[in-house]
Amino acid sequence: MRPKVSRFREGHGISMKLLSAIVPCYNEEENIADFYHEFIKNEVFFKEKEVELEIWYIDDGSKDGTVSEIKKLIQKDGRVHLLSFSRNFGKEAAIYAGLEKANGDYVVFLDADLQDPPALLPEMFGFLKEGYDSVATRRVTRKGEPPIRSFFARMFYRLMRKISKTEIMDGARDYRLMTRQVVDSILSIHEYNRFSKGIFGWVGFETKWLEFENIERKKGETKWSFWKLFLYSLDGITAFSTAPLGFAAFMGVLFCIAAFALIIFTIIRKAVFGDPTSGWPSLVCIISLISGVQLFCLGIVGQYLAKTYMEVKRRPIYLVKEEI
Ligand code: UDP
Ligand code: MG
Repeated sequence: MRPKVSRFREGHGISMKLLSAIVPCYNEEENIADFYHEFIKNEVFFKEKEVELEIWYIDDGSKDGTVSEIKKLIQKDGRVHLLSFSRNFGKEAAIYAGLEKANGDYVVFLDADLQDPPALLPEMFGFLKEGYDSVATRRVTRKGEPPIRSFFARMFYRLMRKISKTEIMDGARDYRLMTRQVVDSILSIHEYNRFSKGIFGWVGFETKWLEFENIERKKGETKWSFWKLFLYSLDGITAFSTAPLGFAAFMGVLFCIAAFALIIFTIIRKAVFGDPTSGWPSLVCIISLISGVQLFCLGIVGQYLAKTYMEVKRRPIYLVKEEI
């Protein structure tokens, strides 16, 4: 067990355990207090189980009043903590920072917008007590989401299932409760290009899946544009599959064979039938097709090279501006 946890125990008696909630926040001023009240409703349940609660709000470089809202809560309740980034590093960085900061024997991630219902926590905790190492959630509906977004999300999960050995569930949320052992395993993965949904699957352990109907965001609006989600899905693919690299090589071989066959065909046609080798337009088509495929494959290689480049730099995943 890490020293942090035992330090907590010293003050609270050996039987008391701690559950840390990690809440990434990016411009969520309207949701901070609502989330706190909703989450703290679980207090009675967890007291009975001899579990204390703490909340780590990870401010991901918000430009609105998010930080001051969190500070207001900290003054009222000592169990609330803040870690504020120097700029927007993305939700993945916030998740990682939260894991590093959380002291708990159990750790849970929740979105600030209450799309991950805190009321589900007692049920989730029950499964941990049954012996599961982590309890994950997935939404079975995508009610209230733009249809085009749902369509591409489904396509992404279907593709990932085909090209990656790591299991990534359709509709999986980051809402996940886990034991200290799982947390430490996730922290042992230091990669810079993080894709948590894949990392959770990769570390393994006994996971219970709970399903719930999609809940629409209470206040504010989504921080993920279609473009941001698209780039995130590319991160997911390059982080957990090298199949596209294989695809590039496969296309190369395919086109070599086709070109070779075409050359033979042209030679025979000329030698046997004396056919004039005409067909400037068809040549242009073939050249542009092949160079298109070449560029596409080069692009795939480039994607992996770029990720490797970022990884080799070993930059920190986030920078802290303030911690309370
Ligand atoms: N978030 C973050 N950094 C970002 C984008 C989002 O910390 O760059 C947080 C956001 O504040 C929220 C959670 O991640 O608590 C999920 O974001 P959002 O609700 O916008 O995503 P959606 O539910 O629409 O997928
Ligand atoms: Mg949301």
